[in-house]
Amino acid sequence: MRLDKRVALVTGGARGIGFAISKALAREGARIVIADLNLEGAKTAAAALENANRDHVGLRVDVADQRSVGELMDGMVGRCGGIDILINNAGIGGNTPFLDIKLEDWQRMISINLTGAFIVAQSVSRQMVKQGRGGKIINIASLSGQRGGNGRGAYGAAKAGLELLTKVMAVELAQHRINVNNIAPGAIETEMAKTAHDPATRRAYEYLIPMGRYGTPEEIADAAVFLSSDESRYVHGHTLNVDGGFREAGLMFG
Ligand code: NAD
Repeated sequence: MRLDKRVALVTGGARGIGFAISKALAREGARIVIADLNLEGAKTAAAALENANRDHVGLRVDVADQRSVGELMDGMVGRCGGIDILINNAGIGGNTPFLDIKLEDWQRMISINLTGAFIVAQSVSRQMVKQGRGGKIINIASLSGQRGGNGRGAYGAAKAGLELLTKVMAVELAQHRINVNNIAPGAIETEMAKTAHDPATRRAYEYLIPMGRYGTPEEIADAAVFLSSDESRYVHGHTLNVDGGFREAGLMFG
C-alpha cells in the first residue's frame, strides 16, 4: 500500500496502458479517477479496480478541450478533495508518411497528444500548487519522440514536445514539491499498437527489440508505480524508457 491516501487521476484510463496503470495504482491503495473520452469505458474500468472501498470514479474528459478539463478538475476536487498523482496518458496513435500528412491530421495529433497533455498538466499543477502538499506528475511520452521512425512525423513531434515540456515543468515546479517525470514506452501490446502495426512491421519490431517481444501494459504500470511513489522522490525531470532495450539497439541497426 505504497500509495495509501493518495488520489490519482489517469487520463485515457479506460483501456490499454492507462487501465493497467490504474489497476496497479489502485492495488497500492490509491483512489483512482479514470478520465476518458469514452465515459462508459471509464466507468467500467473504474468499477473493475481493486480496493473498491476507495470509491474509484470514472468520468468523461476530452483532454484537447480546456473547458472539459476544467469541469473534470472541478468535479474531481469536489468529489475527492484534491489530487496527488497525475498520469497524463490520454493519446491517439498515428502512422502516416511525411509527404502524405494532411494539415488537419497534423493539427488533430498535436491538439490531443501535445496541447491536450499541456492543458491537463497545467490545470493539475495549478491545483497542486494551491493545495500546497506537492505531488507527482508522470507524462506518457514515447520512444517515437526520441528518434526518427517511418510514418511518425506528427506523432513523434507531439511526443518530443511533451518530453521537453516535462523538463521545463520539472525545473519550474520543483519549488512547489511537484515531482515531474516521463515514461517513454517502446512498442507495447495495446489496441493502439495492433492498429498501427501490420504483420510485417510487427516482425521487424520483434527482430529489432533486443528482448525480442513487445512490452505489456503491466510493464509500463510497474514503472508508473515507482514514479508515483516516495521511492522516486529524487528522480526529477527524467525520461524512463520502458522499451526492452529498443532505443539502444537503434544505434546498432539504424
Ligand atoms: P489506447 O488507444 O489503447 O488507449 C488510449 C485511451 O485514451 C483510450 O481509452 C481513449 O479513449 C483515450 N483518449 C483518446 N483521446 C482522448 C481524448 N481526447 N481525451 C481523453 N481520452 C482520450 O492507447 P495506449 O496504447 O494505451 O496508449 C496510451 C498512451 O501511451 C498514449 O499516450 C500513447 O501515445 C502512449 N504510447 C503507447 C505506445 C504503444 O505501443 N501502445 C507506445 C508509446 C507510447
